[in-house]
Amino acid sequence: MATERTFSILKPDATRRNLTGAINAKIEASGLRIVAQKRIHMTTAQAETFYGVHSERGFFRELVTFMTSGPVVVQVLEGENAVAQYREVMGATNPANAAPGTIRKEFAESIEANSAHGSDSTENAAIEIAYFFSGCEIVG
Ligand code: GDP
Repeated sequence: MATERTFSILKPDATRRNLTGAINAKIEASGLRIVAQKRIHMTTAQAETFYGVHSERGFFRELVTFMTSGPVVVQVLEGENAVAQYREVMGATNPANAAPGTIRKEFAESIEANSAHGSDSTENAAIEIAYFFSGCEIVG
């Protein structure tokens, strides 16, 4: 297994309920390291670009509105198999289907306000990391 990096967002439902630390505790307990992190308020243009792959889906506008409804915390996570590992720590998209102990099972409010984003491939992780972080902001 290789050391990888993945991109994470703690979504507006998580920052609103002051859950940043609780979610970071789960991330760190899983062995992943937070090697970059900042709190931002995404613009509509940034959210539209970030979720561009979903632009044809019925929930796209709602999703953009949600992601810009409050601050988010963007992160780079590093560890063995980080992409798959973080998807496991997050749990299924719909919290109703998420395994016990996962971020989404414990914290998500709904299929949309599901507390965390994690990249779905190493290729997308590299694109997403480069969209929000410059190289000197990532300290491994
Ligand atoms: P993920 O990779 O597990 O985050 O899931 P997707 O890539 O399929 O979806 C991206 C994000 O869109 C999810 O994390 C949710 O915030 C949102 N989303 C997914 N499915 C739905 C849906 O059916 N309705 C709404 N409102 N939002 C959804």
